[in-house]
Amino acid sequence: MLALVASLVVAAWAAVPGPVGPAGAASAPDQVRAIVVFDESTFGSARMNRELSAAGAGVLKVIHEPRVAVVTLPSRATATALAARAGVERVELDSVVHATGKPTTTTTAAPAQTTPWGITRVGAPTVWAASFTAPANGTGDGVNVAVIDTGIDLDHPDLAGNIEGGYMAIAATGKYRKNRSYNDDNGHGTHVAGIIAAANNGVGVVGVAPQADLYAVKVLDQNGSGWTSDIVDAIYWAIGTHTDRDAAGNLTPGNDIRVINMSFGSDYPSSTLASAVRDAYAAGILLVAAAGNDGAAVDYPGSYPEVVAVAATDATDAVPSWSSRGPKVELAAPGVSVYSTYAGGGYKVLSGTSMAAPHVSGSAALVWGAQPELSVADLRTLLAASAEDLGAPGRDDLTGAGLVRPDRALNLVGP
Ligand code: CA
Ligand code: CA
Repeated sequence: MLALVASLVVAAWAAVPGPVGPAGAASAPDQVRAIVVFDESTFGSARMNRELSAAGAGVLKVIHEPRVAVVTLPSRATATALAARAGVERVELDSVVHATGKPTTTTTAAPAQTTPWGITRVGAPTVWAASFTAPANGTGDGVNVAVIDTGIDLDHPDLAGNIEGGYMAIAATGKYRKNRSYNDDNGHGTHVAGIIAAANNGVGVVGVAPQADLYAVKVLDQNGSGWTSDIVDAIYWAIGTHTDRDAAGNLTPGNDIRVINMSFGSDYPSSTLASAVRDAYAAGILLVAAAGNDGAAVDYPGSYPEVVAVAATDATDAVPSWSSRGPKVELAAPGVSVYSTYAGGGYKVLSGTSMAAPHVSGSAALVWGAQPELSVADLRTLLAASAEDLGAPGRDDLTGAGLVRPDRALNLVGP
């Protein structure tokens, strides 16, 4: 007889910011929110429903590919008991993640267009000015980038033309029970999106890849906090764009997500999230994440091997003390006093590794726009090999391989 080894993974319960957690936070004092992974024969069956019901679970959502039910449970003891049931592979306490950007000024109205310092520093304007044979291009046109964040301001004049779609991944609880829009109710995701792909249209700012195609994937709430389970849902949504079919049954590669930007982090690992990023990378998606803002080890998901973790630099190429560090840092990019789009049609200066990651995502879109045939592994290798060495010679724990330089990746300038 086969015995399934099930275990309760104790994650970030203590990290839930009180007194009010993010959208969908458990309300009763002992209640916990958990990710329940079932085996293949049990997932989706009547037995799954019986087990959840017997445990007193409230089902928030079901995510098919990883065979996950996201639930509330009456107590941690219930979670431990459920983990021991036949057909249950694993029960993991759901954990909280936070956006990694910090506002430094108030919102300003749209002025005449300026090119933010970080866009110039990574060499993006050199790529825009180069010539390529169509459909190859130097603007990221046709490269689909999912911004997994607080959503994007869908009406922003510097972004609306580049937004191709989106997905609302926050479980339908609280304020988000009825509000299923992926419009940005915080501002962070709009700032990140503008760094990647604000339009070169004469107003406001311009992004690294001013014609990249943006997808607004909302997992973080109005306070910039969210749940690991919703991020897992968002990543499998992106993978699903590679397998979706039109009415005639044909694959629709035009909407395939090529790059995922994750400007958030958590101190707590999740094997379900680790599996999700592994599956996304295997599907050919480049995953880029903020290293973190606590000056310590790189956050999750940035520290997973399939994810490019990005540290922050300032306008003098120095790394701020709060930029997370260590062997998991893969690249560095501008992340101090970064001017970009903000919710409500405005503009704002923010600092954080949240701002560094989208400089890399935009750079990936530029390189993929110019060299569409590159595999995800080759693109990742090229971005590191062409980076500008900063700090200690060679790879170092503050800047990884160095500052991302799409102009060097495309051989438009010498090293
Ligand atoms: Ca603009
Ligand atoms: Ca170095």
